[in-house]
Amino acid sequence: SVVNRIDAVENSTAAYLSLQTEEALIAARAVDEKLRERKRRTPLEGIPYGLKDNMCTQGILTTCASKMLYNFNPPYNAHVYDRLIDEGGILLGKTNMDEFAMGSSTENSAYKITHNPWDLNKVPGGSSGGSAVAVAADTAFYTLGSDTGGSIRQPASFCGVVGMKPTYGLVSRYGLVAFASSLDQIGPLTKDVEDCALVLNAIIGHDAKDSTSLKLEKKDYTQNLKQGVKGLKIGVAQAFFGEGLQPEVRKSLEEAIEVYKALGAEIVDVSFQHLDYALSAYYMISSAEASSNLARYDGIRYGYRAEEYDGLVDLYKKTRSQGFGDEVKRRIMLGTYALSSGYYDAYYKKAMQVRTLIKEDFEQVFGGCDVLLTPTAPTTAFGIGEKTSNPLEMYLTDIYTVPVNIAGIPGISIPSGLDNSGMPIGMQLLGPILSEENLLKVAWAFE
Ligand code: GLN
Repeated sequence: SVVNRIDAVENSTAAYLSLQTEEALIAARAVDEKLRERKRRTPLEGIPYGLKDNMCTQGILTTCASKMLYNFNPPYNAHVYDRLIDEGGILLGKTNMDEFAMGSSTENSAYKITHNPWDLNKVPGGSSGGSAVAVAADTAFYTLGSDTGGSIRQPASFCGVVGMKPTYGLVSRYGLVAFASSLDQIGPLTKDVEDCALVLNAIIGHDAKDSTSLKLEKKDYTQNLKQGVKGLKIGVAQAFFGEGLQPEVRKSLEEAIEVYKALGAEIVDVSFQHLDYALSAYYMISSAEASSNLARYDGIRYGYRAEEYDGLVDLYKKTRSQGFGDEVKRRIMLGTYALSSGYYDAYYKKAMQVRTLIKEDFEQVFGGCDVLLTPTAPTTAFGIGEKTSNPLEMYLTDIYTVPVNIAGIPGISIPSGLDNSGMPIGMQLLGPILSEENLLKVAWAFE
């Protein structure tokens, strides 16, 4: 069973921060019992899965891989967790991540380093690295991750699995510990595209507890999955094939383009005007929102509190200095600076204006094609420790994923091949708002 598999490989991959395997086995036996008398009630009934440790699970630690939440047992469930309970899913455990989802390699976890199962000396990507590894190493049938600037798609690409960031608002963020609320979105990591459609079916839907949740009818993403791509227009933009792209990644995507041509799709050239500014705008906006969202960790209400302090201000200072890791502090400082009076117009407001321009760029691009094909990341997985001393280099790994969150559109990463050292390459497919059905169809056709 998957629990045996966890016993065998979790020591070397370290995908999980906490495990519920005892409870999972009991729940699985109960489902087995029921399935002797009747059919599966839902496709996910009895199927074991993992959740990124920033989704609230009542009575089960939810740490965000931070010392700040080392003892946080949420008093409520995230919407997605409740949905999966309704579906009869079986929670195996909470997966490792970069602290508060800030990072691209899962090396910012306060607790452990997760290893890429394709090469244990390489990072799994991040911030949903544990979720990607659990799927890649068969220690979960599927997992959920969160994606603020690429944190589902980039680790999916590094670990050779499928990862989807849905349209902003399609999946409720209720009970997802906030990083940057206008960018955060929950989505599935799975072995293949059909599983991705099944998990998406389960987690979407309007939720009154998230004011940004879209009011839409439920949809079955498996219905038109296998219809093929004949006549579809697939866009390719130079802006996504620039400097810094690993040659094998480029080659793999060129081959993918040929596959789509052979399947009857039409390949069209499209172009962007403002994409060069996406990464800067993303780090400005996401850090600004993070500085505000993370103000709640004050050592008073819940989570970590410094042991010795001299008065209230000192309590805040010591708690936050000791409770947050370096990357989180960097973002809080950057965000606080960008939002301060006197700098607001020059940084935050400017970034918001760039955000509008990038949205318009995508609207114009999707006037000329149905789907955009890009690399998910400029390179395949890099070595553990290779980029930890250079945050800017780490940020550059997000260059192809962040524009998607800025525009609020959906994106999926699927495996497209292997590089010369045998590491998986990810291809990203993007579409206009609420085009998930089409994206899954195009992804399935390639697979
Ligand atoms: N790597 C990006 C960051 O560090 C994206 C994170 C994410 O999507 N949660 O902000």
